[in-house]
Amino acid sequence: MSSAEKITRDANGKLIVPDHVIIPFIEGDGTGPDIWRAARTVINGAVEHVYGGRRKIEWKEIPAGEKGYEQTGQWLPEQALEIIREHVAAIKGPLTTPVGKGIRSLNVTIRQALDLYACVRPVKYVEGVPSPMKHPEKINMVVFRENTEDVYAGIEWQSGSPEAQKVIAFLRDEMKADLPETAGIGVKPISEKNTKRLVARAITYAADNGYPSVTLMHKGNIMKFTEGAFCTWGYEKAKESFAGITVTEDEVYKKYDGKAPEGKIVIKDRIADMLFQQVLLRPDEFGVIATPNLNGDYISDALAAQVGGLGMAPGANIGDKCAVFEATHGTAPKYAGLDKVNPSSLILSGAMMLDYLNWTEAADRIRQSLGETVKSGNVTYDLARQIPGSRTVGCSEFANAIVETIGRMEDDS
Ligand code: NAP
Repeated sequence: MSSAEKITRDANGKLIVPDHVIIPFIEGDGTGPDIWRAARTVINGAVEHVYGGRRKIEWKEIPAGEKGYEQTGQWLPEQALEIIREHVAAIKGPLTTPVGKGIRSLNVTIRQALDLYACVRPVKYVEGVPSPMKHPEKINMVVFRENTEDVYAGIEWQSGSPEAQKVIAFLRDEMKADLPETAGIGVKPISEKNTKRLVARAITYAADNGYPSVTLMHKGNIMKFTEGAFCTWGYEKAKESFAGITVTEDEVYKKYDGKAPEGKIVIKDRIADMLFQQVLLRPDEFGVIATPNLNGDYISDALAAQVGGLGMAPGANIGDKCAVFEATHGTAPKYAGLDKVNPSSLILSGAMMLDYLNWTEAADRIRQSLGETVKSGNVTYDLARQIPGSRTVGCSEFANAIVETIGRMEDDS
């Protein structure tokens, strides 16, 4: 019988991770199985090399997406969410959203059903990866995107539908807001509670990982009671719960002559459109960015492009009870089963999962070895087409090269 156990929590909510731990996975659709196999090889390789057999992961498959539908008739079987909740941490490949079949995005459903309110996307340059920036090495940002509300809450009605007409009549008659009869309607809820818990997580992350600032990104000059309120509540949360370790940008200029006091995290805010300029022009001025859902979607893909594209960008969806780590790109269906695409996004998401388990030595080893492997010039097609003189390798060969590098680093250390 297997000795593997689930992750649990102590009375203070701190994770208790057994050395032989069960982690559920969803391999995903399209190229999901290719990149999942590669990521599993690398994660297992790192854990084995770093802990010499003392620690081990037992993987537990959750059929979801096309596989779930074939096996159970459901795209997201009911027990899938329960299994993730029970095991605290899970990892997933990309899932297809069947278009026009009345099914909501499975990815959005997982995030909302499990209340995984923080979408965490670190964006850091890996040496050797082609980038459109002159100094991509200056980019080291982590986006905390609110995952449960904003225009993503799914509250919308089609133009001309009885529901849209009812809302339009209410807005006209009761609220004196005039709008065209034919308008489609979407609702943008942003709440104090959900903003404050996101900002608290962003500040805690900045403190734990040595980031000098948290920027509240918003469009509050136009949407005062949603995006503007996000900004106000963000500053309030910093004062209420983190007064000892934070200082506002305003205070830095008024009280400290423009230089942040040693050890304090600067809380600042930027209007969304201006931030898009500033992360291009002066990327080293930004560390952690906390923002509502839609801004977060845009800025994290734009930042990923600055360091070489989505194929390299990891992501995690984290709540108070559990977390799901996932590749940030889609299923790239035209390459399915070809053992071709770049598995780095899922591999680096796996490293984030190991950080979450506090198995940071293995996580760091993955990040270093992936960087070394890219530098060696043996890369998947997407990078090879941009790196002159490189050799194109398949998805699994790339993963095996990372594991070999991990082994070599082990021998050298
Ligand atoms: P996509 O799957 O991300 O693929 C778009 C293009 O990006 C690919 O054709 C490829 O470009 C490049 N690409 C993506 N992943 C890559 C990788 N690992 N290595 C190298 N190149 C990669 O976007 P899509 O075609 O818009 O979406 C397809 C499906 O994925 C949809 O059903 C969508 O709903 C779903 N999706 C799921 C998630 C998720 O599960 N979180 C996220 C986004 C989309 P080239 O052809 O130029 O090489």
